[in-house]
This record gives sequence, structure tokens and C-alpha cells, in this order.
Amino acid sequence: MTLPGSLDEAVAALAAMPTAVPVAGGTDLMAAVNSGLLRPAGLVGLGRISEIKGWQYQDGAALLGAGLTHARMGRPDFAALMPALAAAARAAGPPQIRNAGTLGGNIASAQPTGDTLPVLAALEASLVIAGPGGTRREIPIGRLLAGLDMLRPGELIGYVRVPLLHAPQTFLKATGRTGPGRAIASVAVVLDPARRSVRCAVGAVAPMPLRPFDAERWVSSIVDWDGDRTLAPDALAAFGDYVAAACIPDPVPEPPNPLSPHDPHDPHAPRDGAEPGTLPPAVLHLRRTVATLARRALGRALA
Ligand SMILES: Cc1cc2nc3c(=O)[nH]c(=O)nc-3n(C[C@H](O)[C@H](O)[C@H](O)COP(=O)(O)OP(=O)(O)OC[C@H]3O[C@@H](n4cnc5c(N)ncnc54)[C@H](O)[C@@H]3O)c2cc1C
Repeated sequence: MTLPGSLDEAVAALAAMPTAVPVAGGTDLMAAVNSGLLRPAGLVGLGRISEIKGWQYQDGAALLGAGLTHARMGRPDFAALMPALAAAARAAGPPQIRNAGTLGGNIASAQPTGDTLPVLAALEASLVIAGPGGTRREIPIGRLLAGLDMLRPGELIGYVRVPLLHAPQTFLKATGRTGPGRAIASVAVVLDPARRSVRCAVGAVAPMPLRPFDAERWVSSIVDWDGDRTLAPDALAAFGDYVAAACIPDPVPEPPNPLSPHDPHDPHAPRDGAEPGTLPPAVLHLRRTVATLARRALGRALA
């Protein structure tokens, strides 16, 4: 394992050994190695690169180092800067995972349950990617998570550029059990008063965070941006339902079936009394969970 001291040295180490894999906190990578899913020929450790362990300000944005740990992002000074990202970092697994796991690793792993991902999607963050020869390129995080613009061989996520909105933002997560756990659903809501917009992203219910654009536009249009920003409970509930239905839509109705509905060989016939076109109970429960998270997240952001 090599331990470079700068981002460019790490990129050079990867160029020198193309079969090597970068490792930051190792919480995801070592789990893959231990379960036999990954046998890296070499490792390039990112843990000694101090330039990516903090953050700096640049043109109204914060440039967050990819090496920031969840524990560091959960601290009060960071929470004052980016409350939703701090809340997501505090919710990301047990303390030993938060001490080691990093922002860059969370993004590169791109797991549906990655807690920072919906927050970064709602904040419309972009990634500064370091490449061979000291090159830097910048891509919106959504393009990476959607697989439209992947990391190329030898590239590393160096920084995450996040606009500073100076307004409330929230992150809420539901897990299947009490205590730390992976999200079954999560919701980030951020207010952007300068653009008079509410932005929202839902995590864990799909391979990448989902943005319910129509629900965002509707709720942005009913907020009194120049006065009291609070919304009535029924408007908050309508927002929750709107977000949940957008992210977990009704099934598309089946085309008419020429076979008899009672034909036992008909694979499309309803089973166990289920009505065609209705959501299975587990999916309905997930939709209600998303609706509740979105309603509460918006209510807290506007409170
Ligand atoms: C028990 C347990 C519980 C967990 N709970 C949660 C949870 O609740 N929420 C949550 O979001 N996550 C959770 N995780 C997942 C994990 O902790 C996070 O995804 C963490 O942020 C990964 O960061 P890392 O530094 O450990 O990444 P690593 O394991 O070091 O790397 C992960 C992947 O990212 C690549 N990589 C790392 N850094 C970079 C970079 N700068 N540029 C390019 N590629 C890079 C590596 O090559 C590797 O493919 C959990 C993990 C465990 C083991």
C-alpha cells in the first residue's frame, strides 16, 4: 500500500499501478475485500492527504475536501455551515464508521443508502475531480450518480463544491430499526431564498437520489418568501404526498388481457386478492414513510 501526501501524488501512484484501488476510510472497501467481492492488486491510501481533510471558501461556495470524515462533518462548526450535511453525517452508521468513513468514499461508493447523497443532490453540489498531470474537471454530482459521467481510470474525487445558501436545511432518515442503521428512506430539504425555491431529494428508495421537481416548483410557489415562510399543516401534508407519489409512483395499469381473468394459467391475473394497479403493502408503507419524512423535513426547514 502506498501513502501519498498530496492529491496529485495519489493520482500519479494510480497511474503507475493501474490495477491499484484508492482507499480512504476503508469502511466500504474493506467490507468488500473481507467478503471476497474485491481482490485489489494494490492500494493507494488517501488518509495522509491533508489538503482534502478540511474545507475552504471560494466564490460563495464551500469547497469540501473528499477526505472529510462523517465525524468531522457532524461537529458544530460544520453544522453551522451546512446543517443538512452535518445531520446526514451524524446519521451515517455507528461511531467507529463515522470516525473512519469519508465524504469522498460515500460518494464514490454511490450506494442507494449513502446518507450524504440526497443532501448533496438537493444542494446541487458538484465534484472537483483530480486527474493525471494535475488536471481538474468539475461535474454535477447528479451526473456521476446517474452514471452519465463516471470517474475515469486513475481519477480521484478531490473536492465537493457546495453553494452556501445561508438558509435552513434539513435531513431526515428512517431506518428499519432503532439506533444507527442504513436508511430505508431519507429526505433532504433545502431552502434557497435567493432563487425563491425549495429543493428536495429523496434517498434510498431508488438507485440514486430522486428530485421531485414538480413538487418543488409547487411548494416554492406557495411560500411567502418576503414574509412569514411558514405553511399550514395541510399544505405541508400535501407536499409530503406529492413528493412520495412522485418518487414511488402508482404502477402503470396493465393493458386489457385477452385471457379470462379467472384463467389459472394467466400470469397477469390478480393473486391473493390484490387489485391490479394497486401498490403492494410494503411499497405503500414506504410511500407513507417518504410522505411523513418530506412533510416533517419541510416543516422544520420553514419553522
Ligand atoms: C457497519 C457499517 C454501517 C454503515 N452505515 C452507513 C450509514 O448509515 N450511512 C451511510 O451513508 N453509509 C454507511 N456505511 C457505508 C460507509 O461507511 C460510507 O459509505 C463511507 O462514507 C465510505 O467512506 P470510506 O472513506 O470508508 O470509503 P472507502 O471504503 O475507503 O472507499 C469506498 C469506495 O470509494 C472509493 N474512494 C474512496 N475515496 C475516493 C476518492 N476520494 N476518489 C475516488 N474514489 C474514492 C474507493 O476506491 C472505494 O471504491 C456503513 C458501513 C458499514 C461497514
